[in-house]
Amino acid sequence: MSRSMVMLGAVWMLAAAGLGAISLISVEQEIALGREANAQVQREVPSLQERTVLGYVRDIGARLVARSQGEAYPYSFHVADYRELNAFALPGGPVWIHRGLLEAATRESQVAAVLAHEIAHISERHAADQASKSLIANLGLGLLGAILGNGTSATTTRMAAGLLANGVFLKFSRDDEREADRVGMALMARAGWDSRGMIELLEILEREAARNPGQVATFLSTHPSPEDRIARLRASDGHGGTRDSGRFRDVRARLRRLPPASSMSRN
Ligand SMILES: [Zn+2]
Repeated sequence: MSRSMVMLGAVWMLAAAGLGAISLISVEQEIALGREANAQVQREVPSLQERTVLGYVRDIGARLVARSQGEAYPYSFHVADYRELNAFALPGGPVWIHRGLLEAATRESQVAAVLAHEIAHISERHAADQASKSLIANLGLGLLGAILGNGTSATTTRMAAGLLANGVFLKFSRDDEREADRVGMALMARAGWDSRGMIELLEILEREAARNPGQVATFLSTHPSPEDRIARLRASDGHGGTRDSGRFRDVRARLRRLPPASSMSRN
């Protein structure tokens, strides 16, 4: 029996045993997959390069990463020049926040909340779990043997493209979302922000969903309802950290002077 067939059998046994989140991907493979997926996203998504805004997002991200738990992933932070309110994480480090979400936030702690939630998806290896499950479902494509065995960089690129095209990294389970909320909220508090920012942000998304559903359609299709998330977080909200900053207000003023963001639907 070939090596990949042995592995195939092992995976079926794990799957049959009903184990939920099976990460068959090593941290190194996860980082390589995320790097490839991010290169593709950078080719397809207009990224905002304005230095004040990008520097600000990267600094908030770095403060959170310094207090995050889990593997020392090579985290990176990017701003998509889209007006829709959304954010997403790729395996092994890349985090994207849409400009629309930065513009909708009214306090710095809300921006920290978005980034902390996405960092938690990465540190808890949700994307690696998603990739493992997808690969199990696609055994016919022979991807699993490749990723477990001697996958070349061309294989990694192909797999990253396939997983990305199928939205594997962009939609997590409800349990993963709850965990990212919980872990993210604790993280932002450790890093010095008032964790009520997480709830405030969800309230903004809820209001926006009622007022202008098109702007949050992608977000709502990939996350549990804000109402459900708020109810769960209320019990654990923490006070006392930073809520706002002059730098955040400068960033908002800067964003207002830039040409308007593009719409996802026109890409
Ligand atoms: Zn999420």
